[in-house]
Amino acid sequence: MGRNVQKYLPFALSGVAIVILLLSSCNGLRRGAKGLSSSFDESQESMIMDSNGQAPMRVYHITNQQDSILLRTSSVNVIPDGNDVVLERFINRLYSTVRDSMSMGVGIAAPQVGILKNIIWVQRFDKEEFPFEYYLNPVITHYSPDKQDCLEGCLSIPDRMDTTRIRAETIVINYEEMGGNKIIDTISGFTAVIFQHEIDHLNGILYLDHLDKEMNKE
Ligand SMILES: [Zn+2]
Repeated sequence: MGRNVQKYLPFALSGVAIVILLLSSCNGLRRGAKGLSSSFDESQESMIMDSNGQAPMRVYHITNQQDSILLRTSSVNVIPDGNDVVLERFINRLYSTVRDSMSMGVGIAAPQVGILKNIIWVQRFDKEEFPFEYYLNPVITHYSPDKQDCLEGCLSIPDRMDTTRIRAETIVINYEEMGGNKIIDTISGFTAVIFQHEIDHLNGILYLDHLDKEMNKE
């Protein structure tokens, strides 16, 4: 037995070494994967994963100077990773925010709660029962030449509504679903205005900017 122990000890030791190596490389992989899949930096993550659970987040207003700077900043794409718990929590909280009894909006964009990511929620008045749907990394790829007038309000611009006259009647959008499927959709009417309004937010544009253009034209 003594001899056998001597004989097998080196194998036993190298077995331990291999197990340790495997464990450490697994940790490395896991860390790497988290780094890859996480769309949010530390401060964004702490805003999203705070003790308020799924509750609405604070809506940023142009009347606040600090908020206004962020609302004027362009957002960046998210990685549509279904395993990203921060992304999942954020999407839920963004929905809670637009459906909050104080807001009751028909659409919201991530920068409106201080997160500069290309994520929006839109109420689809062009679908049966008007469902709310979220869109990751949406981009408008086509605007119809025919325009529509629309009375617009904005959760970030308190106490006013104005008529815009520059919204396309029909648009084509590209976006990603959770998991990375790329989708193309054509949208018309009031719902197309909501998409144009929310995707503007992702580019740091507010509906008031379009009013200025109209006034300059006159
Ligand atoms: Zn808005």
